[in-house]
Amino acid sequence: MSTIEPRRESVHVALGERSYEILIGRGVSQEAGARARALGARAVAIVTDENVGALHAGPILASLEAAGLRTDLVTVSPGEGAKSWRVLEDVCEGLLAARIERRDLVLALGGGVVGDLAGFAAAIVRRGMRFVQVPTSLLAQVDSSVGGKTGINSPHGKNLIGTFYQPSLVLADTALLDTLPAREARAGYAEVVKYGLIDDPAFFAWCEENGAQVLAGGPAREHAVAVSCRAKAAIVARDEREEGDRALLNLGHTFAHALERLARYDAARLVHGEAVGIGLALAFRFSARLNLCPPDDAARVARHLESVGLPTRIAAIPGLAPDVDGLLDAMAQDKKVVAGALTFILARGIGASFIATGVAVEDVRAFLLDELGAPASA
Ligand code: NAD
Ligand code: ZN
Repeated sequence: MSTIEPRRESVHVALGERSYEILIGRGVSQEAGARARALGARAVAIVTDENVGALHAGPILASLEAAGLRTDLVTVSPGEGAKSWRVLEDVCEGLLAARIERRDLVLALGGGVVGDLAGFAAAIVRRGMRFVQVPTSLLAQVDSSVGGKTGINSPHGKNLIGTFYQPSLVLADTALLDTLPAREARAGYAEVVKYGLIDDPAFFAWCEENGAQVLAGGPAREHAVAVSCRAKAAIVARDEREEGDRALLNLGHTFAHALERLARYDAARLVHGEAVGIGLALAFRFSARLNLCPPDDAARVARHLESVGLPTRIAAIPGLAPDVDGLLDAMAQDKKVVAGALTFILARGIGASFIATGVAVEDVRAFLLDELGAPASA
């Protein structure tokens, strides 16, 4: 019997003694058992959410058990609400109850919520346990599982409590994405496009050709995950703690975070990646308005995002009609305003993003006034 070797890629995250591999491809999570053994674990506690656990925990537990490892499962409710002190406590206590020792492993099986939460729990239980990320959403495979940002939310804002804590391994099994709701897949795709827009115009052009295929599954998806992980790994290797370049990953995110805040993190109206779609389009239109970027590039960005069904206008968010002051206020929560000026990630064109300091609040206001008057689609 002949078997077809599945296509797989690996990306190295070069961080000295905290370096690790990202394995990408259909079925790589089936190696969880062998990989955990190779890391010297005797037991593995999986942290997951109810949706993902029901769909995907079984085969991973089986892989771990087949490798002779003791296993346990800690399950949280799905959704952003799990990134809270209360659920963090449950997870930490669950890990201790599972008698997981320092040489053992925590395995985060889920989207960005589970990855951020389980990673933070791993960082603090027994003063730090090793952990493996098995990201199951497109957003988690291309963004949140790589780079070591972990944490929970506060009533004061998102991700305000946490730490940089790198995983020991990332298993990005693209087959797990087959069950992801289409809306979540589109949302994650906005982060894929972001890497092209930051510094890789050829990859953006590839996205224009292949975006629909990435969302449909198949080899284009593996390629998109691999290029994205490589791009993120390179930035993280240069600037692990976001003291410089890593801020480029925030392209579109000042706008996105403000819109998410105004929509009260209500996933029924707006999920993060949708906010990023709007934010990317806004960052490019704002750059064009400041005469930094050709208007054609801004139009091209919006056209591509819309072609895969992502929103690109504030008016596309159901039930949200902010005024300009409300929007500026929400943006100021994310950004320090120094002497009437903000720092933004802007672009000189597709694939030519840069950190712009000293953006005048008045310019932002004038731009937003125009945008708020615009209809829902470009
Ligand atoms: P999520 O974890 O809430 O997942 C989205 C939804 O999809 C959930 O309902 C989840 O249960 C479900 N789901 C996930 N995988 C599935 C699958 N394979 N099949 C079926 N359903 C599945 O959200 P997300 O978009 O993955 O992540 C968002 C979070 O990531 C936010 O909290 C954000 O702050 C964080 N984030 C962190 C970083 C970082 O660097 N650490 C970067 C970006 C985002
Ligand atoms: Zn993001």
